[in-house]
Amino acid sequence: MGKDYYSVLGVDKKASKDQIKKSYRDLAKKYHPDLNPQNKKEAEEKFKDISEAYEVLMDDQKRARFDQYGEEGVKFQGGFDWNQFHHYQDIQDIFGDIFSQFGFGGGGFGNPFGGFQTQQRETRGSDTFVEIPLDIRRIARNEKIEVYYFREMKCEECNGTGSATKKLQTCQTCRGRGYVERSTNQGFIMFRTTEVCRTCNGRGKIPEKTCHVCSGSGYTRKKDRIEISPPPGIHEEEVYILRDKGNFRPGGSGDLRIKFDIDYMEFTREGDDLEKEIQVDFTDAIIGGKIKVPLLRGEREIDIPSGTQPEERIVLKGEGIQKKTGRGNADLILKTKVSLPKKISKKQRELLEQFKNEKGFFSQFHL
Ligand SMILES: [Zn+2]
Ligand SMILES: [Zn+2]
Repeated sequence: MGKDYYSVLGVDKKASKDQIKKSYRDLAKKYHPDLNPQNKKEAEEKFKDISEAYEVLMDDQKRARFDQYGEEGVKFQGGFDWNQFHHYQDIQDIFGDIFSQFGFGGGGFGNPFGGFQTQQRETRGSDTFVEIPLDIRRIARNEKIEVYYFREMKCEECNGTGSATKKLQTCQTCRGRGYVERSTNQGFIMFRTTEVCRTCNGRGKIPEKTCHVCSGSGYTRKKDRIEISPPPGIHEEEVYILRDKGNFRPGGSGDLRIKFDIDYMEFTREGDDLEKEIQVDFTDAIIGGKIKVPLLRGEREIDIPSGTQPEERIVLKGEGIQKKTGRGNADLILKTKVSLPKKISKKQRELLEQFKNEKGFFSQFHL
């Protein structure tokens, strides 16, 4: 049994957003860690649980998935954490009130949700994009693809800390909190807003001694190289993601997002399969023959059965590119075009006249 977000918030399955909001509001006031100094740890857990439930039930899509599949349907990667919470504004609204009511607005109480966020969140790097031109034959041969691209990589000089001594010190502007508060009085109510500290960009820490290589950022823009194999069922519409190969930040690296610009050459794509037109001489089409056709992995001799028609499909099993499932190759389909000579010799004409007068031929077409 997974979690039941409805019972966590004490609402029933049909609860409206207003009801959910109200219930969350009540519980948040009850469990805010700063209002529970005696059992802070427990309150933190509780507060996180109700916030997780709130995150799910306030989001129509997540709620629908939860209704259908339970907790499994909305699994938070690596468990729910505050980075996945989208309703800080609501918390701020709730506690903005409380703090001004209780007169805590003047400071010393900390950020409405800072009390239990003991560690400053380090931001993750952004993703990088590359588009790789690739022809279909290289894909079929499963050739390794070498990609060079620029990204922000961890500064080796300071090991990504931005500090020449590799040590950080607490940011004095925000006193390590990563954000600064502004208070404004409107009548007898005090409004408080928080914003990211510009001195430390929200890290709460600054380099002890600025690294001269990266000027304190902790990263440098460099050319990186990766080697990849064409993904099974490779498609130009899809974006392939390589984890952690994007821009570096102390909080983690972004991803590398790859799009392939596929040159299909003389082939066309039909789902996983590829198609190619081939010219078949009319005599081969009628009496059968063999022709040499360049396929994806080299030339092959193809049997043209007698009685082959124009627009016929000859299926070459497993001669296509790798299937999306990764299990074996898809097919390559040859579509026949029957070519007719525009000019023929006297001798050929005589033979065709003879052929035309053959009784068998007429009986076949003019019954
Ligand atoms: Zn700061
Ligand atoms: Zn550095």
